[in-house]
Amino acid sequence: MPQNLQPVGRPPSQTKIVATLGPASSEPAKLAELIAAGVDVFRINTAHGTREEHQAAVDKIREAGRQANCPIGILLDLAGPKIRLNALPGDSITCKTGDELTFVRGPSPSLPGHLTSTYESLIDELHPGDRVVLADGAVELRVENKTADSAACRVVQGGTFRSRQGINLPGVKLAAPALGEKDRDNARWAVSAGVDYLGLSFVRKPEDVRDLKTLLQSVGGTCRVVAKIEKPEALDALDAIVAAADGIMVARGDLGVEIDIAQVPLVQKRIVALCNRLRKPVIIATQMLESMHHSRLPTRAEVADVANAILDGADACMLSGETAVGEYPREAVEMMHRIAIATETLLRQRPCATAGSSSSAACASERSTAFPRPTPHAPRPKLQFGNPITEATTCAACRLAEEVGARLIVAASVSGESALVLSKHRSFVPILGVSDSDATLRRMCLYWGIIPHYGAPVGDSAKLLEYVAAKGRDSGYFAPGDRIVLVLGTGISASRHNAIVVHQVE
Ligand code: PEP
Repeated sequence: MPQNLQPVGRPPSQTKIVATLGPASSEPAKLAELIAAGVDVFRINTAHGTREEHQAAVDKIREAGRQANCPIGILLDLAGPKIRLNALPGDSITCKTGDELTFVRGPSPSLPGHLTSTYESLIDELHPGDRVVLADGAVELRVENKTADSAACRVVQGGTFRSRQGINLPGVKLAAPALGEKDRDNARWAVSAGVDYLGLSFVRKPEDVRDLKTLLQSVGGTCRVVAKIEKPEALDALDAIVAAADGIMVARGDLGVEIDIAQVPLVQKRIVALCNRLRKPVIIATQMLESMHHSRLPTRAEVADVANAILDGADACMLSGETAVGEYPREAVEMMHRIAIATETLLRQRPCATAGSSSSAACASERSTAFPRPTPHAPRPKLQFGNPITEATTCAACRLAEEVGARLIVAASVSGESALVLSKHRSFVPILGVSDSDATLRRMCLYWGIIPHYGAPVGDSAKLLEYVAAKGRDSGYFAPGDRIVLVLGTGISASRHNAIVVHQVE
């Protein structure tokens, strides 16, 4: 990749890095450091902070992107019906197995052993026998008795929990919608703030995604919807949810409480494979480098977790508390970037297991593991999803690039669709994404292997190729005779991505 076309001079990993913003990372100098270390998308979590703080975060990220002269995406996470404990007397409670704790109504408990929550209907929706899990699984209760105003619970797994920590109710079908009034308000604001992706928490059915899309449409918003998979009901309707959404987050924090934690790795593989088949970017989230909250180095197991997510075929890996409140946010991003670069060497080398075999129609994109490198002439599957012309053109461009030994693919994209589909072919020929829309370039920040680039003249393919060739020559990346493959729409047909140009650098 020509240095003057790549973001902030670092060799980018194919895998994208999402970093959650928080007190440890929101100052301009820190943002610049994190972008230089490899962040592609910043996540703002509306479960914390005020509107003013969220607006300030958006402004600072945009400014940091301008300073670095590279597109940086923003993912605004809508909190959804996350139930939390209210403030506890003394800020924390330690309980033993066999103790009794009672949920009561009201803002804050006044008696020892009483708990209240942010969800007014909690007591109405709990029944004897229901499980109540606190603090990401640290403490588990079981409801024993219920009255009109209380739900008495027995502690079945003792431990410590603190004020405002989360409450999960595995197996309880909550009435609260995925998109509450506060989320709707945040979504409308996100449109005016120019956010690129909206994360929708606790999605249970495709209608949840469609509701948010309808709202966005009603206010003229173009931001894309990332459905967070963290409920067992979502797994039951996974195909339809992935089809309805523009991207998926495997939200392993809540998912690991809502379903048997031992199932999470398999569920992750299933979700990633489906997203790759349906051409949706997929983010793996939570506890990826957890120990880096307080340590410069991750554990071996965490390194393996990030590597395995990449080998599963994830488009992006996410840092949460590590960059929001951790002591080593830059080191965490650098580490994730290093693991990605190291792991991608294996993806590069993987032979196409099915090429030439009778089962080769089950192409890489339909397997549960990451994409092997496409082999020239390997038959491709017929996808039932997406625009078949875009699929065929982008697939052919990847093969052509390999056959002519191209040093770069350029995707000129209005909506970003062709760049996303190109990304899903998992070519290791570097792909430059160009567009006359800054919003499209920022969306590409989540697409595996796509390097979005500001300032290319996209209106005229000859000028575009000359621009890219000149940049590559200037940086010493291109030598005379090197080839560039350009994928674009000719504008002479309704199909948007219907042309491939092969250019030889002079
Ligand atoms: C998760 O549960 O893993 C997650 C990413 O969601 P949140 O950070 O909003 O709890």
